[in-house]
Amino acid sequence: MASALPIRKIENGRSEELVLTDPLTGLGNANRFFDKVNRLIAERADDPAPFAVFVLDLDGFKPINDLFGRSAGDDILQQVAMRLRAAMDETSTVTRIGADEFAFLFPMVFSEDAAADKARMLIEILSAPYDVGHRTARLSASVGCSLFYSEGDTTDHLLSKAETALYQAKRSGRGHVVVYTQQMEEAAKRVTRIEQALRRAAAAGEVEPHFQPIVDLATRRIVGFEALARWTDRDLGPVPPGVFIPIAEERGIISQLSQLVLRKAVETAREWPEHLFLSFNLSPSQLVDHNTGLQILAILERTGFNPRRLEIEITETGLMTNPASAEKIVQDMQRVGIRVSLDDFGTGQSSLGRLRDFHFDKLKIDRAFVSSILEDRPSEHIIRAILAMCEGLGMDVVAEGIEHEKQANRLIEFGCGSGQGYLFGKPKSAEETLDYLRAVMSSPKKAAC
Ligand code: C2E
Ligand code: MG
Ligand code: MG
Repeated sequence: MASALPIRKIENGRSEELVLTDPLTGLGNANRFFDKVNRLIAERADDPAPFAVFVLDLDGFKPINDLFGRSAGDDILQQVAMRLRAAMDETSTVTRIGADEFAFLFPMVFSEDAAADKARMLIEILSAPYDVGHRTARLSASVGCSLFYSEGDTTDHLLSKAETALYQAKRSGRGHVVVYTQQMEEAAKRVTRIEQALRRAAAAGEVEPHFQPIVDLATRRIVGFEALARWTDRDLGPVPPGVFIPIAEERGIISQLSQLVLRKAVETAREWPEHLFLSFNLSPSQLVDHNTGLQILAILERTGFNPRRLEIEITETGLMTNPASAEKIVQDMQRVGIRVSLDDFGTGQSSLGRLRDFHFDKLKIDRAFVSSILEDRPSEHIIRAILAMCEGLGMDVVAEGIEHEKQANRLIEFGCGSGQGYLFGKPKSAEETLDYLRAVMSSPKKAAC
């Protein structure tokens, strides 16, 4: 297909067209894209009318390649390229910048709405079936768009904004369009600010565990505490874990942060009565990191904390990414006596198969079910089913997010053993937790422990 293009010889003997052309599809390549956008930016320097840049990525192209073979994959890419080229008018350009990634320049698209319409049109065009030998294949695509507004925008900048928008589009599933907006720019800046502050705080040891009691529902005695990370930055103020944990995961700080919080939590828990356990959350990315197990064991060894008093909480999402690696870490933990619980059960991609493949010691029913147990029949049935299943599998159960006495009573009625929630106590600092435990121990009547 590339040979159909006119090839113009230039002085040093190399073909300019070849340098700018993708050999598989005959479309322009990344060099052509940069060249075209650079020129347009220069043209619009005096009168910066907006224009649009898109990045389009085929959804699930790799499985198609695996299923039909590489040459069929190439064939599909050529058909995709043909459709996209046919969809361009005389002003716009399509180029292939990655295996299944295409970049576009639309000099006459002036607004975010017009960009989104155009991108949806491209997705539509690509959605018709493709012939692969005697078979047909279907493809969807996701698109990220960005608009040029001022001469301060470089081609790199426009492309990276479109890539950020594409990333968001991909995160929401297949066949989505996202246009990079000012709000996204602000949000991205805020994430970077948090990341930088968090790096500093993690290095300076400024993230602290707080502790929330877990109780035996029937006796109300505290059986253990869950450690929950807390961070207050000098400039940003308190940042909730729901915000900084995902950023730590995405930006590769989670392992350092987790070790810091675990070390501090274990140092505190050493001061508690022996029969109380410490429960600690692991993030999904830590379950694909082979060092996680060793890091936890090293902290236990250094602090002399009994592994039998430690529980590790993991979520279904954590198991999904790489089940084999997660299984190895779980088994390594259990071998030394650490208990493993499945956190937030019922909200992820709950798969009962996982409960068969993995042996968990405990399951935590998500707050979403507990909070509606009194009003919502389905929640009630789901909780009863989970409890029956756990009994059969020999797993302990903790109900999360109990806020009202009536919820606790209903859970006891259904046979739930343990609970956690504001009804029994909010997460408190290490000192407050120790003070509370000392008070309970010196006056056993005051509270159950
Ligand atoms: P999680 O592990 O499911 O923790 C329970 C969350 O529910 C905590 O939120 C807790 O404060 C809150 N909670 C407990 N009882 C109640 C209640 O009765 N009502 C309501 N409305 N909320 C209740 P928090 O502390 O904001 O933590 C959010 C999530 O952040 C945690 O969910 C956990 O997934 C993650 N996280 C916290 N600390 C760490 C950590 O050290 N490492 C990792 N990897 N994740 C952590
Ligand atoms: Mg948890
Ligand atoms: Mg939870």
